[in-house]
Amino acid sequence: MTELASPPTERDTGVTRITHWIDGKPTPGESRRSGPVFDPATGQQTGAVDFATAEEVGKAVAAAKAAFPAWRAFSLAKRAELMFRIRELVHERRDEAARILTAEHGKVLSDARGEVTRGLEVIEFCCGIPHLLKGGMSEQASTGIDVYSIRQPLGVGAGITPFNFPAMVPMWMWAPALACGNTFVLKPSEKDPSASLWTAELLKEAGLPDGVFNVIHGDKVAVDALLEHPDVKAVSFVGSTPIARYIYETGTKRGKRVQALGGAKNHMVVLPDADVDMAADAAVSAAYGSAGERCMAISQVVAVGDVADRLVAAIQQRLPKIKVGSGLEPDVEMGPLVTREHRDKVASYIEGAREQGATVVADGRETAPAGDGFFLGVSLLDDVTPEMDAYRDEIFGPVLGVTRVETYDEAVRLINENPYGNGTAIFTRDGGVARRFQFEVEAGMVGINVPIPVPVAYYSFGGWKASLFGDSHIYGPEGVNFYTRGKVVTSRWPDPATSKVDLGFPQTR
Ligand code: NAD
Repeated sequence: MTELASPPTERDTGVTRITHWIDGKPTPGESRRSGPVFDPATGQQTGAVDFATAEEVGKAVAAAKAAFPAWRAFSLAKRAELMFRIRELVHERRDEAARILTAEHGKVLSDARGEVTRGLEVIEFCCGIPHLLKGGMSEQASTGIDVYSIRQPLGVGAGITPFNFPAMVPMWMWAPALACGNTFVLKPSEKDPSASLWTAELLKEAGLPDGVFNVIHGDKVAVDALLEHPDVKAVSFVGSTPIARYIYETGTKRGKRVQALGGAKNHMVVLPDADVDMAADAAVSAAYGSAGERCMAISQVVAVGDVADRLVAAIQQRLPKIKVGSGLEPDVEMGPLVTREHRDKVASYIEGAREQGATVVADGRETAPAGDGFFLGVSLLDDVTPEMDAYRDEIFGPVLGVTRVETYDEAVRLINENPYGNGTAIFTRDGGVARRFQFEVEAGMVGINVPIPVPVAYYSFGGWKASLFGDSHIYGPEGVNFYTRGKVVTSRWPDPATSKVDLGFPQTR
């Protein structure tokens, strides 16, 4: 974070200034605080993002509050039509979005396109909002009395999002929030903030009324202002566990509805009967895709019995084929990490694991491309035990650990004793064991011969334990519930036959 004598201009700094978006237009910040944005592939600063004060957050919330009455009165038909238009625009422009993601996050273009495509699925789900908001009805609940339920929007919702999916994770939040009739203030990650402005412009072009979607950039100051603002009714958060816990506790203390998704340590169990080539392919793509900066990345393989040697050899054999470099180059499979500090922290786990007794099968520090980019090659650690830092911490980088156990029960115990419970996977040819795993494993998303079981958009996404605070998973049916509240109407109308009012038409019995 930088304190400036005056707000930066492009001429002063040679980098692009990234502003807020309030009430339908770009709004330069006035706080004189900003954060640097880098191209992780070159290590060069490319942008300076304005950091908001509490007053600026207040302006965004006020714009959203003012837009709410008209927006919630939009008919379901019109809201659905608008969601379809947004869907078409995002679909047409997904390559443009992907380039923005690669430029600030570093992920390869194919990954970036995949991110937009998974986000699009949530928008597509929200195109069905008239169906999703249908209530229930009990005719003649008592004589002459009907009872029916409706779901209504909450008001202003806020989204606070992480760096690793700067387009998709906000879509998980704003698409259901808006479709349900809420207005929204997004506080994206300060590390890669441009995708949110791209989204704001696209929503405006699609015809979304001004003030319905706002973007405010910043750090803890902006987040705290959202958490404390009485007009913010609901907060969706995705990020690391300590911040998720803080958001949940602070937001709920102030009477807000909060869903706060946290970090992860996803284990992939490989049983002796598994197809080793299939498991090795899955482990490699799930561990190193997007440089391991995915909350559903596999970071820990649990090899059961005699599969371990065969599996480690199969994974090791695949590693030299993973080309690391700039995400813009077509044949590159893994880009840089998001910042220099994060790259250095991830790299420190390799040495730490060696010192604590793990076997370093591949050391990504030795294979990182030269230059100033925030690169690290892929690393594989064998003989990792639960006491080691590399096992206990969420590394969030291209470092895959292997823990060897003797039995299936030991593998499940490891997962169930882990404080995180986001995703997990099992690789086996035995349907009975897979079914037992699904029954007893303590995690919110389970893959059977599928390493990254991110639910499709018509289910909801969320982990257990320290991977989620609150009781509502995100997007899908639970996202619609989160962004609406129920109302039950009990009504009685006089029977026309006994009514004293002249109804102007013949009464019949
Ligand atoms: P982060 O927790 O550092 O930041 C997330 C958001 O919180 C950002 O907008 C940031 O500005 C804000 N923030 C950071 N520090 C804060 C503070 N002290 N007070 C208030 N707000 C603060 O997370 P990150 O590094 O951007 O993202 C990586 C993390 O997100 C990983 O732990 C990953 O597992 C997690 N993640 C989880 C999911 C999931 O679905 N469970 C999905 C994606 C990422």
